[in-house]
Amino acid sequence: MTTRKNSIKISLEIATRILGDALNNPFQEICGLISYDKKSDTQKSYPIRNVATSPNTHFEMDSTQLIATTKQVRNLKHKMFAIYHSHPNGNITPSSQDIQQYEYHDLLYIIISPGNDGILNLAGYWIHQNKSVEPVTLYTNT
Ligand SMILES: [Zn+2]
Repeated sequence: MTTRKNSIKISLEIATRILGDALNNPFQEICGLISYDKKSDTQKSYPIRNVATSPNTHFEMDSTQLIATTKQVRNLKHKMFAIYHSHPNGNITPSSQDIQQYEYHDLLYIIISPGNDGILNLAGYWIHQNKSVEPVTLYTNT
């Protein structure tokens, strides 16, 4: 198994943007991808439409937008880095369905929440192939 970092930097701009997105959509899960370029140390986020039938508790990325984003990332010569979605209910741990359905084990799994207690939350995980979940400390470049 590849060693995974247990502490990862998220650009403050992206953290702010995806938390803002989650705040603006308090009744449904928002989702998207984040790419990274090692050379320039830059990250870029791509919001993707949630097409799940019950978007208040689930997310499913729009496949057309997903393919377009993958192309865009490749053209930018970035690497896909993280996948994010929100939990409007305030819980920032991956749901059992999140874990069961997850296939992109190389991507950092980010969950954000506008929180029902008014506290904004952002958490990162590795979800391994064997379905074990490992928390990752996220920090920003302040
Ligand atoms: Zn979830």
